[in-house]
Amino acid sequence: MSHKSRVFGDRPLAPETLMMGYGYDPTLSEGSIKAPIFQTSTFVFRSAEDGKRFFEVAYGLREKDPEEALGLIYSRINNPNLEILEDRLAVWDGADKALVFSSGMAAISTTILALSRPNDVVVYTAPAYGGTEYLFDRILPRMGVATVSVADDDCGAALTRAINAAAEQAKARGGRVAAVYVETPANPTNQLIDLEAAAAAIKALGQAEPPPLVVDNTFLGPLWQKPLAHGADLILYSLTKYVGGHSDLIAGACLGRADLMGRVAEMRTICGTITDPHTAWLLMRSLETLHIRMERSQVNAMELVKRLRGHPKVEGVLDAGGVETTPAQQAIFARQCTGTGSTFSLRLKGGEAEAFRMLNALKLFKLAVSLGGTESLVSHPSSTTHSDYSPEAKTRCGIGDNLVRLSVGIENVDDLYADLVQALDAI
Ligand SMILES: *Cc1c(COP(=O)(O)O)cnc(C)c1O
Repeated sequence: MSHKSRVFGDRPLAPETLMMGYGYDPTLSEGSIKAPIFQTSTFVFRSAEDGKRFFEVAYGLREKDPEEALGLIYSRINNPNLEILEDRLAVWDGADKALVFSSGMAAISTTILALSRPNDVVVYTAPAYGGTEYLFDRILPRMGVATVSVADDDCGAALTRAINAAAEQAKARGGRVAAVYVETPANPTNQLIDLEAAAAAIKALGQAEPPPLVVDNTFLGPLWQKPLAHGADLILYSLTKYVGGHSDLIAGACLGRADLMGRVAEMRTICGTITDPHTAWLLMRSLETLHIRMERSQVNAMELVKRLRGHPKVEGVLDAGGVETTPAQQAIFARQCTGTGSTFSLRLKGGEAEAFRMLNALKLFKLAVSLGGTESLVSHPSSTTHSDYSPEAKTRCGIGDNLVRLSVGIENVDDLYADLVQALDAI
């Protein structure tokens, strides 16, 4: 079976099977069962003609022949560890191509730079990850790119109105709508955005080159939400979270349609936002256990959600599409997601003082930002990750002082529950 085969006879192989060997040919590396780390800055060309051919393709001077392998040039452009990792990441989402970056923010900013020009308008959903919000709210406007933030209602109507308003604004500025950027579920509220409604609103614009629908899939992907199947054009990840999964690295990815990915690749090469071979190697190791880690942490989280609902100190439990959400949210969940993941928030009875007493009393849950690791973490969004939101924005997005976000790991669930109960008692 070839190392690039995704089928076994006529049987398509599942992603968790492909993670063990897909894209790696051991005969090129002394039979090594695992890909060695190609810790090198540059690659030796076999001939001057090869060097010329490789650069023609890398710099877009000519199209690559379908049969031609893009030669290795320099580790800011490509590297075997990155190429294998990118092939494996693309499998999970059914993407034409994936590119890996030095952080989630490197992936997001490089992708948005690749898509926008001065006078363009970018629409994005709120609440968004803090770094993303900063990029859109403070940095892009400095470069002549206007941005429109929208807290969507349940049915996509607010997002549709914002996309139409952005098109008007773009026309007046002599630009285009460059992208529609969606984070779903939203951090930390788990509010879902209807991707099919967003894709329909983009189509209805009738813009000559429709703006790509770009989805940050960090929270539920790549297992529980497949945005490309719901009208998205590009997917972004902070690989730091579930994909890395051990809280020991920072990385990001962009995946999607080949034509758009070409533009993102150009920008990554020039901005130098690629990751390094060692991080790529760690991510390949992580991908081998991705499904069991995500499955187990989800089982744990679902059990904790069940036990904590109705606890006398808990006002509400915010899980994606959960029983406390609206019927419209539950309908989006049913169409778009196959699991609730393992990051959810508690609205405590009381305010910041009560939340802090609980956070300070936890023993197993570590008090840290980030999520998606094997260990359980807890954070207070209002005073940390979302502290630069105005009081109005916090209210609009539902980020109160009594909100505590939990990222559930793969520990024993009864141990985790005991820790939460004693911390709630300490309020
Ligand atoms: C963490 C995170 C990011 C940023 O990723 P980094 O790897 O920290 O740069 C972007 N989006 C979401 C949803 C995140 O959770």
